[in-house]
Amino acid sequence: MLFLTHASQLLTLRCESGDSAPRRGTQMRELGIVEDGAVLVADGKIIAVGTTDEVAKHELARKADDVDCSYNVVLPGFVDSHTHPVFTAPRLIDFEERVAGASYEEIAEAGGGIRASLRGVRDASTGTLATHVRQALDEMAAQGTTTVEAKSGYGLSFAAEMKSLEAIREAAHQWPGTVVPTLLGAHVIAPEHRDNPKEYVRIICDDMIPTAAKLKLAAFVDVFCERGAFTMEQSQRILRSAVEHNLGVRAHVCQLTPAKLAPLMEFHPASLDHMDFVSDEDVAVLAKLDTVATLLPAANYFLGLDAFAPARKLIDAGVPVALATDYNPGTAPTPSMPFVLSAACTHMKMSPAEAIVAAAYNGACALRLQGRKGSLEPGKDADIAIFDATDYRELAYWFGRRYSQE
Ligand SMILES: [Zn+2]
Repeated sequence: MLFLTHASQLLTLRCESGDSAPRRGTQMRELGIVEDGAVLVADGKIIAVGTTDEVAKHELARKADDVDCSYNVVLPGFVDSHTHPVFTAPRLIDFEERVAGASYEEIAEAGGGIRASLRGVRDASTGTLATHVRQALDEMAAQGTTTVEAKSGYGLSFAAEMKSLEAIREAAHQWPGTVVPTLLGAHVIAPEHRDNPKEYVRIICDDMIPTAAKLKLAAFVDVFCERGAFTMEQSQRILRSAVEHNLGVRAHVCQLTPAKLAPLMEFHPASLDHMDFVSDEDVAVLAKLDTVATLLPAANYFLGLDAFAPARKLIDAGVPVALATDYNPGTAPTPSMPFVLSAACTHMKMSPAEAIVAAAYNGACALRLQGRKGSLEPGKDADIAIFDATDYRELAYWFGRRYSQE
């Protein structure tokens, strides 16, 4: 049992409305701040939340180990709802070429990009991959993240994708936080099927998805619906197979080019991710749905782009917005949610409060975990981040900072 006391600011992220829908519009600014805040924890669950004086009256408070959180901001651990941690090496040549002026697609055409990570993953053992994933999870935890969605997607064969998911499972068992595994066999067409993409889509639908579902290796199926990756028709086929196997659905869409979202909506995706080129008509549609728009500004930053996803337009229209790192070796090699908060505020004009709700509560919604994660309320999992700061705005203000984190 733990009793966290005297937090300068305790951000409960409790919402006035009290419901469990994704937060939208002005709800994204509700942090539920308690000054001199306290949290009582037993058996991994939150027992009580409030001021230190209030929570001290609880009968279990006296028996719990006291943790003094003076000069700390205490909040729900971040939910990083979009990461690609199963790879073996950084892509330094891609990085250098991009800095010298090559585009994402030129690098992919020249044999860099996603396919460059493929050899490393196919050659590695499950244990080696798990070690890499575990290292990434530890770095994320050091930046306040307690729940991570982890995708496969650099194996691009039945065996290598299943091995990637097994590596995620192995790493997750060794890590104290929560990992949500996603099958992203549909990252790009595997090189050996480039002349026959239909066959690769068939392998995803008939082999990867049924096996991942049967062995409970994935909770979600993701697809990169984009020029040069998978067409809308191929994406629909893959997502239909996911739904048939009772797996959740999410998609990378509108990252590099515009796309109409209607063909994806019939599968009720938990989240649509990137959304840089989302249309005004689709913004209006999403405002009425619980599908979360997950924005990944670290990728725009690392690609050196001038444009970022239209966060203000989405939030002001009432679309629930989440933030995630997109941790991956090609376009977003960062484990840091605080960096993402900084980029969201400086480049997408989100307020620090909106960024925190997007990075915790709405991130949980993007994984359909808001019943357990994303806010500090009695009965929820005790996933708590403690930052060396006295004001929540510091989390988005300092960047590239090292936190001593618990
Ligand atoms: Zn991604």
